[in-house]
Amino acid sequence: MGRQNLAKPYQIAVVAVGAAALALSLLGFRVESLDARFVLIVILTAATSSRFTIQIPRASTNITVADTFIFLTLLLYGPEAAVVLAAIEGTCSGLRASRRKLTVLFNTASNACATFLTANIVRFVFGDVPGLSGATPYSSVLALVCTMALAQYITNTTIVSVAHAYKTNQPVWQTWTHHYLWSSITYVVGALVAGFVVRFGDAVGVYSLLVTVPVISIIYFTYHKYLEDIKRTAAQAEAAERGRAEQAERHVEELSRYVAELEGARAELQASKEHFRHAAFHDSLTGLPNRALLRNHLQLALGRARRNDDQFFAVLFLDLDRFKNINDSLGHGAGDQLLMAIARRIEGVLRPMDTVARLGGDEYAVLLDALVAETDAINFAERLQIELMKPFSLGGHEVYITASIGIALSTNGYDDPENLLRDADTAMYRAKEKGKARCELFDKLMHARAVALLQLENDLRRAIERQEFQVYYQPIVALETEKIVGFEALVRWRHPTRGFVPPDEFIPIAEETGLVAEIDQWVLRESCRQVGEWHNLSPVNRPLTLSANLSSRELTHTDLIDRIKRTLAETSFDPRCLKLEITESAVMDNAEAAAAVLARLRELGVRLSIDDFGTGYSSLSYLHRFPVTTLKIDRSFIGRMSEDTEKFEIVRTIMTLASNLGMDVVAEGVETHRQLAQLKLLKCEFGQGYLFSKPVDAETAAALLARQVAGRKLFSSRVTGDLVIPPATTYIN
Ligand code: C2E
Ligand code: CA
Ligand code: CA
Repeated sequence: MGRQNLAKPYQIAVVAVGAAALALSLLGFRVESLDARFVLIVILTAATSSRFTIQIPRASTNITVADTFIFLTLLLYGPEAAVVLAAIEGTCSGLRASRRKLTVLFNTASNACATFLTANIVRFVFGDVPGLSGATPYSSVLALVCTMALAQYITNTTIVSVAHAYKTNQPVWQTWTHHYLWSSITYVVGALVAGFVVRFGDAVGVYSLLVTVPVISIIYFTYHKYLEDIKRTAAQAEAAERGRAEQAERHVEELSRYVAELEGARAELQASKEHFRHAAFHDSLTGLPNRALLRNHLQLALGRARRNDDQFFAVLFLDLDRFKNINDSLGHGAGDQLLMAIARRIEGVLRPMDTVARLGGDEYAVLLDALVAETDAINFAERLQIELMKPFSLGGHEVYITASIGIALSTNGYDDPENLLRDADTAMYRAKEKGKARCELFDKLMHARAVALLQLENDLRRAIERQEFQVYYQPIVALETEKIVGFEALVRWRHPTRGFVPPDEFIPIAEETGLVAEIDQWVLRESCRQVGEWHNLSPVNRPLTLSANLSSRELTHTDLIDRIKRTLAETSFDPRCLKLEITESAVMDNAEAAAAVLARLRELGVRLSIDDFGTGYSSLSYLHRFPVTTLKIDRSFIGRMSEDTEKFEIVRTIMTLASNLGMDVVAEGVETHRQLAQLKLLKCEFGQGYLFSKPVDAETAAALLARQVAGRKLFSSRVTGDLVIPPATTYIN
C-alpha cells in the first residue's frame, strides 16, 4: 500500500531531473552545429516517433524507432544535441500516447534523462564523441555501439519500469522483465544502424542520411511484421484456445443439460414408479395401505413372532354396521366421506408400529404389533369402538355409526397371513350375529365352526350330483274350508354323515357361493314334476298351486326368466299354478330392478308372492307397483298375535292393505286353533303351519291329497278358550 501514491511524485522528480538535464544540454548546445542534416534528423524523428511505433505485446508501452536517430545525433552532433532530440522525440511520442500533461512531460523528461546519462557514460568510456571515422577499427565501433545501446536500454527502461511498477503496485524487477526486457533488440539495432551509417558514410551528408531511411524502414517493417505475426499467432492461439474452451464449455454445458435431462427423466420415472408402487399397495379413497400391503406387514410380523417366543400380535377385522343405510340415505359421496373420516379416526388411536388397512367396502383391518397381553387387543378394540361412536359430520348431517370387530391373535399358530385375516373375519361375523357394535375374539370353538362351515361348503358342491337333496311339501290351506289348495316346496338336505341339515343353515352358504341357483332350479323342476303328477291324479287336484322359493340372489340373474320358462316347458306345468316366493327384503332392497324382473315373470303367467312380509321395510308406493298376487305374513307375527296385541294389529293392517291392493294373504306358521280362529275372524283366506301339517315328503303329501279326494276331513278345528278380538284401530286405504 502507499506505493501507488509514489507514482506521481516519482514522475515529478523525473520531470525535474529531465528538465535539469535538458537545461544543461541546451546550455552546452553549439548553435553553429545546426545544419540542414540536423533539421532533417529532427523532422524524421518527429515523424517516426508519431507514426512508426511498435506495440510491445502484452505491454502498455510503445517503442519507437526514433532511438536510431537519437544515437545518430549523439555520434554526429554530440551529447547536447542528442538530449535535445531525445526530449523532442519524448514529447512527440508522449503527445501521441496521452493527453495528460504529466505523462507527456514524464515521457519528455525520461527520454532526456536516459540520453543524458547514456551520452555521459559513452563520453566517460570513449572520450568525446563524435570521433568515428572510416579508420576506426570495427572492434571499437562495435564496443561503442554496444555501450551506447546498453546504456540507453538500461537507463530508459529502468526509469520507465519504476514509474510503471509504482502505478501498477508491482515489483520493479518483475515489471522490467515482463514488459521491457525483450525491447533491448530495438536499442541494439538502432545503435548498430547509427554506428554503421557514421562509420561508412565518410562524410555523412543529407543524402547518405536519406539512405538510412529505407534501411530503417525495412528493419522497422520487418520487425513490425514479425511482431504482428507474433501478435496474430498469439491472437489465433488465444482464439483457438478460447474456441476450445468455449467448445469444451459448450460440451460441458451440453453434457450437463443431457445429464439434467436424464436426471429429470429418472425423477419422473422414479415418480411414476413410486406412484404405481403406491397405487398397487394403497387404497385410492382413503390412502390407507390395502390388503396386499397389509399382507406384507403380517408376513413380517409372523416372522418376528416366530423368532421371538414372547412376541405376539393381533389382527382386528372391522366392519361397519348398517353402512348401507348411510349410502342409501345420504348418497355415495357422503358414504365415501365417512369411509375417509373413519380411516383418519382409526389412525388417530394407533401406535406408530401398528398398521391400518382398508380391505374394501366398509371393511378395515388393523395390525396391532408387539402386544404384551391378550387383553391389550380387546382393550384397543373397545377403545376404537368408543372412538367411532362419536358423531361424524357429513355435509351438515350428524351421522352415528357403530362397528363390529373380530380379533385374531398370532398365538394360535399361523403360517399364512390370509388365515389370520380369515379368522379375524370369522370373529367379526360372530360379533355381528351377537347383535353388532361389539367385538369378538376368535377362539377354538369358532375355529371348529369355521372349519365345519368350510367343509359344509365343499359338501354342498357335491350334494346335487350325489342326489342328497329332497323336496318336502307343506300344505297351504284355505282357512274357511280347511282344504289343501296348494303346497310350498321346501328343500331338505340329507347329508351322508351329518344327517339332516336344515335349510336355514345351508341356504345362506349356498347363496354366498352361488350354488343356490342350481339348488332352486332342481327344487323347482322336481316339485313341478311332482305337483304335475298330482294334478293328473284327479280333477279335484287340478287347481293345486305350487309355491317355490326364489333366492334374493337370483333376482339379478340374467337367465332366470329363461330357466323358469324352460322348467315349466320340460315338466308341462301350468304356469298359472306356480307361485314364486320372493322375500320382502329381496324385493325392496333392489326395487327398480326387482320390479322389471317381476313384471317379466308375470308375463309368463306365473304368480308372485312376497315372503316373510312385515319383516322388511316395505315401501307402500312400491308395493302397489309390483305385480304381486300374494302377501305371506311372516310367522313371527302369527306366532305371537294371540299374546301380543301389537302383532295382532300388524296382521290386521296387512290384511287391510292386501285387500286394498287386491292381493290375497297367506298366514305362515299357524300352530294353534286360537291363531286359526283369530285369522278367520280377520277374514284371512289361507294359512300354512304345523297346525295343518309340517312339511312332509311327497309320499305323505300324496296321502293327504288322497284323503281329501276321498272327501274326508283333514284337520280337526277346535277353538280353545275365549276369543277376544280387539276393535280395529288402523286401516290403510
Ligand atoms: P320360508 O320360505 O319362510 O319357509 C317356511 C319355513 O317355515 C319352513 O322352514 C317351514 O318348515 C317353516 N314352518 C312352516 N310352518 C311352521 C310352523 O307352524 N311353525 C314353525 N316354527 N315353522 C314353520 P324350512 O323348511 O326350515 O325353511 C326355512 C327357510 O329356508 C325357508 O323359509 C326359506 O327361506 C328357505 N328355503 C327352504 N327351501 C328353500 C328352497 O328350495 N330354495 C330357497 N331359496 N330357499 C329355501
Ligand atoms: Ca317361502
Ligand atoms: Ca316365510
